This record gives sequence, C-alpha cells and structure tokens, in this order.
Amino acid sequence: MGRVRDYSEIVQRLRALPRREWHLQQAGKIWGYPFFYLRRRMDGHAPTILLTAGIHGEEPGSVEGALRWLESGEWAKWEVNWFVLPCINPYGWERNQRRNAQRRDINRQFRNVSDCPEAELVKRLVKDRRFLFTLDLHEDVDATGYYLYELRQEPPFVGERIVKAVSRVIPINHEKVIDGSQTTGLGLIRRASSVETLKRRRRWPMAYHLFFNCTGHILGSETPIHFPLEQRATAHRAALRTALQAIAGRRR
Ligand SMILES: [Zn+2]
Repeated sequence: MGRVRDYSEIVQRLRALPRREWHLQQAGKIWGYPFFYLRRRMDGHAPTILLTAGIHGEEPGSVEGALRWLESGEWAKWEVNWFVLPCINPYGWERNQRRNAQRRDINRQFRNVSDCPEAELVKRLVKDRRFLFTLDLHEDVDATGYYLYELRQEPPFVGERIVKAVSRVIPINHEKVIDGSQTTGLGLIRRASSVETLKRRRRWPMAYHLFFNCTGHILGSETPIHFPLEQRATAHRAALRTALQAIAGRRR
C-alpha cells in the first residue's frame, strides 16, 4: 500500500512543542521510522499519566487528538508528569493501514515476548513505571458514535463522566453490544472482570500489559471515523480533560 501521509509532519509538530516543557526523545528506529516519546516532569512526587496514540495506522484521529492536546498547552493546568507515545505505528499511519510492516496488529502482541518491534519497544519504555491512569486513543471504522473502554477493578470509576463530557462534542454510540463487547448502553464498555478472565485471553492488547504491570486504571477512547477529523480530535481531548479532572483532580 502506498503512502497517504508523511510522518515527517508529525515529527515537525513534535519538535515545535516548547522545549523547556517537553523532552522529546527517540527510543529507536523501526522500519526506518524514528520512534518518539515525550516526557514532561513537573515534580518527582506528582503522579504520571500515560497517553498513547496511533497503534492502529488507519485511525488518524487518534494521533491528531494526541498532537492537538500537546499543542493546546492545556496540560499545564494539572500538576502531573506525562509520558506520551504519540504515534506507535508510523509505518501504518503513513499508509493508512491498521497493521505494521509485518502485517501484525501491534495491539495483539502484548501477552508474551513477540517479534513485533513496536510492542517490544513499548514494553521496554514502560517497564518499572507506574501511571495514575493510561489513556489509549483509537478510532472505530464501523461505529455510529463515540464509546469508551474503562478497565478497573473497583470504584471510583470515571467512564460515565467522560462519555457525558464527550457527548457535547460528538454523538455517543448507544448500542448494547459494540465490537463484540457488552456495553452499559451509554457508550461505555467496562471491564471490571476478574484478573483470571483477562488472563485467559490469548492475544493481549497493550491495555492488558499496562494493567498487569503499570496501572490500575485503563481508559480507551474510540471515536467514530465518519465524522470530521477536527471533531474526532476534539472528542479525544475532551476525554483526556475529563479524566484529568476526575482522577488527577487538583489544578495548578
Ligand atoms: Zn484501534
């Protein structure tokens, strides 16, 4: 498949972020593409948020949502540290294809050690880190409206509040079953299922790896792809803003 986007545009936007605030680091090169992550350290005692995007290359609103969040400067309102993976699958993003150069869905390679370089690099980057919560940005090519995954063992949950905030930006998917998963009927898929149930799944998404190693609170934001890019990116930003308000709380 040919290229429909140019990764150097992402790199330019990342390099344009204020350098005193954001440390842009290259973790390696995969399929010829530099793999970037960003850190912002406020204070060693403040909690850290993990924001990830672009694991699926045909979901451009995901990367756009992360970039616009970074460019907005809105992050300065919260006293938290940041760890950001703005585009996990540059090869797929340039070609608008879900999978990487090996034709693998990177988001299914997290259970065991794999030969998928993107998954292994993410595992290495998050190793021994703890996050207050993680937010992974996705898009759904079939969905009629927005929905959210929340994986957490016990209250407090924040999913309802996030979906409500996002509903001011984009319509919500009210189906009872989305992508094979039972929902609350209000655009929320809550996986409070037992650890044993999660462990039975053969192919782990990145969320499971993070849940078992790095955090007790996983969020996954899914925008419907048939809406304008601007609106989808705004929806992801609303999800992140609301998660920060609900979980990180204190504003500067
Ligand atoms: Zn996805």
